[in-house]
Parts: sequence; structure tokens; C-alpha cells
Amino acid sequence: MNTNHLPHIVIVGAGFAGLEAARGLANAPVRITLIDKNNHHLFQPLLYQVAIAGLLPSQIAQPVRTIFRKQKNLTFQMGEVSAIDFDEKYVKLNGSVIAYDYLVVAVGGRTNFFGFDTIEKDGFQLKDLETAVRTRNHMLDMFEEASHEADAEKRKALLTFVIVGGGPTGVETAGALAELISHVMVKDYPHLMLSDAHVVLLEAGASLISSYPDELRKATSKLLKQKNVDIRLNTKLENYNGQQVTLADGSHIETRTLIWTAGVKATHVVEELGVEKASAGRIRILPTLQLPQHPETFVVGDTAFLEENGQPLPMISTVAIQQGVLAAKNIRRMMDNKALESFHYKDPGLLATIGRNAAVARIFGISFSGFIAWVIWVFLHIYRIIGFRNRIIIMFNWAWDYLFYDNQVRLITKE
Ligand SMILES: Cc1cc2nc3c(=O)[nH]c(=O)nc-3n(C[C@H](O)[C@H](O)[C@H](O)COP(=O)(O)OP(=O)(O)OC[C@H]3O[C@@H](n4cnc5c(N)ncnc54)[C@H](O)[C@@H]3O)c2cc1C
Repeated sequence: MNTNHLPHIVIVGAGFAGLEAARGLANAPVRITLIDKNNHHLFQPLLYQVAIAGLLPSQIAQPVRTIFRKQKNLTFQMGEVSAIDFDEKYVKLNGSVIAYDYLVVAVGGRTNFFGFDTIEKDGFQLKDLETAVRTRNHMLDMFEEASHEADAEKRKALLTFVIVGGGPTGVETAGALAELISHVMVKDYPHLMLSDAHVVLLEAGASLISSYPDELRKATSKLLKQKNVDIRLNTKLENYNGQQVTLADGSHIETRTLIWTAGVKATHVVEELGVEKASAGRIRILPTLQLPQHPETFVVGDTAFLEENGQPLPMISTVAIQQGVLAAKNIRRMMDNKALESFHYKDPGLLATIGRNAAVARIFGISFSGFIAWVIWVFLHIYRIIGFRNRIIIMFNWAWDYLFYDNQVRLITKE
């Protein structure tokens, strides 16, 4: 059947927002081209689990072609969009151009090192599968090196892990890493003095997870301290050279591992676009999610900047998902000549895990911490992960780790 006469919708990015936009247009009389530079959709909230050897990359990612196998009005193209012309209505991909009638820009963000070039070069980050696996390989390597290092000071530096950023990702990574050391590595390296191992969490502000209510911030600090995480608040980092962290007060921490979780900013392609930007280079959009002056273009997820009640919407998956849903709905409404709807975020609550059996959560206005919050976290993440097979495998993995204190993915794979 020739479908060339149908409106062509190009969606750039198969992350949380792009996926929902594409799903929301299933069965619509349109042709959809979904583009992503990777062949998979990635569940980024569990990247830290890959880094701490808790899950395999294939357990938190799913090929886009598999996800959309049954959606007949959609074609997937793998490639990196290098430019967008909003006036002529096309995107540039792999040396050719793809024209569109409607465009959804959902390219997410990238790690913001705030100009610390040396940290970008010598530190580690969690943004995609590659960076998470590199972090895992490196951390496991540190234990191997420490196991045959005779010099006590050098051994200590090898076993010191510095995490920068006291947001949910930093907190989750610190808690999980501390447990990996105290429950798992202690068995793999019986001759290593793992009391030398040290997880340091640096935060420039006055508290951890500052967007959470006070009782959860306190519970988080308590839970991390119980796991021997060295929390340093009001601590600004000045430099890192791959061997040593320099803090603003002039003191140093000897370490071979710095994991940066302190910020997100616009992706390369967005930086090049001549449209109005807000903080972190995000694109300012209208409440209907449209780009001002370009009503056929919708910008959603981490790429978009929209305020609600005077506050910018956070760069989190629930905002991205809800915006993806509304972008699809508004495209349908535009095609039907109906008035567009404005975006209103429905906050499903807050959730962060702190190791194997503890978390903090705020759901329906009620705060939970400890084991109950962890159970809520497990079930919500299992529910949200793409693919039935992945859900089963992750559930099995976590049950195994929970019962036997044994992260199963302790593989050093060469890059
Ligand atoms: C380590 C980590 C932990 C997190 N934890 C949580 C959490 O616990 N809870 C929570 O709600 N949120 C969390 N987040 C944030 C959440 O993952 C993001 O808000 C969400 O992924 C944003 O969705 P998105 O669709 O806008 O972008 P993304 O999910 O980032 O998707 C963007 C897609 O665009 C593709 N892309 C980028 N540039 C191009 C291009 N030029 N051409 C083609 N394709 C391109 C990318 O490959 C990617 O697939 C976390 C993020 C990270 C990194």
C-alpha cells in the first residue's frame, strides 16, 4: 500500500519521551520515522546497576526495532541527526536529508562537566551503556590492582572511590558501591584489607537530594552513613588529574576513580540550533510543547525547558514520558484542527534506592524510608522496564543478590 500521501512525522530520539510519542501515534493515519543514534532504548535510571556489576547492559536496554515490531506505521532509522532546519522542515541524517510535516525533538541531554575538562577526560560518568560498562571495568580493575599492590598508600588510593554529586544518581551509586564492597568484594578478595576501601560522596550544596523533603534527606544521610559512605557536604571540587582530587579548601583525596553525576546539559545537535535556550542549553517551549514560531515542531523530555508554577520542570523520566504522550496527542489534535492542550505535570512521587534493602520514597504525599521504600522501588522499576523477558531476568537477579549478597556481573571486559 502506498502511504506516501500520509503526513510524515519524524521523531528524533528513542528515549523515554520519543518512545511515548511514537506509541501515542500508533494506528494514526501517519508515517512515522523514528531516529536514534543507538539501536536501543535505554532505561537510564538503572545505569548505576551496570556500573556496580549488578545488571548486564542487555537487561536495561531493548532494541528499538523489537519494541516497534508490531507498529506498522513506524520505520526506525539508526543514525545521529547532525542538524535540523526548522524553516525548510528537514533533519540531516547520515549524509542525507529527511523532510517532515511534524517533528518531535526528544534527544535528551548529556553530562554537564561545567567546564572541568580534566574530569571529563580522567573521570567517569553514567550516561549510556558504554560509559557504565567502562566504569564497571575500571572499578573491578582497581580491586585487581589493589590485590597485588604492596604499598599501603597506593593500595588505599586504588580502593578510594569518589562520587561527585549528591543528587539521586550520586546517592544510589554511592550506596550500591558501598554494599558491593562490604558484601561481595570482601568474599572475592579475602586477603585484601577492605577496611582500606573508602566511598566518598562529595556535594557542593548543604544537603543530599535537595529536591526531596527534609525527612527523606535525613533518612538518606542516615542510611548512607550506616553503609560507611563518607558524605562531605558543602564541599566544592577544584580539580582532578586522574590521581588526586583537589578540593576548594586546598585539601586532597588520592583516588584513581572519580564518578561525576553532578549535571546534565543539552546534546551537541541542540547546542547548534538557533532557537531560544534556557538554563543548561535546554530549548524554551510553549506549554503545548511546541517550538515558538514553529507550531509543527514539538520538543520534549530533557531537551525541553518549560516552567510550571514558576519552577523549571526537572530532567526526569516521568516528565519525559508525560510530555511524549502529550506531544502525540497534540499532533493528532493539530491534524484534526482541534485546539492543543497544555502540559501539566502529574507528579507520581519521588524515589531513590540506597543499596540492597533500603530506599527513600514519597508517594501520595507519604514519606517512606528503609525496606518498605526499597520494595516499592523494586516493583516500580520492574514495572517500568521495557520487555517482559528483561523484567523476569532483573527480578531474578535482584532476588539472587538479595538472598546471597552476590552481584553476578563482576566481569572485566576489555574495550
Ligand atoms: C544515571 C542516570 C540515572 C537517572 N535516574 C533517574 C531516576 O531514578 N528517575 C528518573 O525519573 N529519571 C532518572 N534519570 C533521568 C532520566 O533518565 C531522563 O530524564 C530521561 O532519560 C529523559 O528522557 P528523554 O527521552 O528526554 O531523553 P533520553 O532518555 O536521554 O533519550 C534521548 C535519546 O536520543 C538519542 N539521541 C541523542 N542525540 C541524538 C541525535 N543527535 N540523533 C539521534 N538520536 C539522538 C539518544 O541516543 C537517546 O536514545 C537518570 C538519568 C541518568 C543518566
